[in-house]
Amino acid sequence: MNTVKKKTTSPLHPRMKRERKTIEKMIAIYCRDHHNTKSGPCGECRELLEYAHLRLAHCPLQENKTTCGNCPIHCYKPRMREKVREVMRYSGPRMIRHHPILAVGHIVDGFRKKPKGS
Ligand SMILES: [Zn+2]
Repeated sequence: MNTVKKKTTSPLHPRMKRERKTIEKMIAIYCRDHHNTKSGPCGECRELLEYAHLRLAHCPLQENKTTCGNCPIHCYKPRMREKVREVMRYSGPRMIRHHPILAVGHIVDGFRKKPKGS
């Protein structure tokens, strides 16, 4: 067992992996219902997903973060932020039916305290 290092290189924290998966599922649900895609998200949604993953990778809070919706940092640029909010508004409630474990995890994460000083 090596000691837990406080550096965010190589293997992803399980929390961050789940976060990536959650946004992936949310975008898939949204795209399927809005853009009539059957196998994987369309180009536009794929772009959004890549952007979301990129933001997660650069998130300074990493596994200590709250959910992006509660985060005080707002690292998305406005156009992407609008889109991802729409996706979450639509897919959030549907996640409970389609991916209950991910959904519950996400809700629990939302109760995490925001970093002090916000
Ligand atoms: Zn789409």
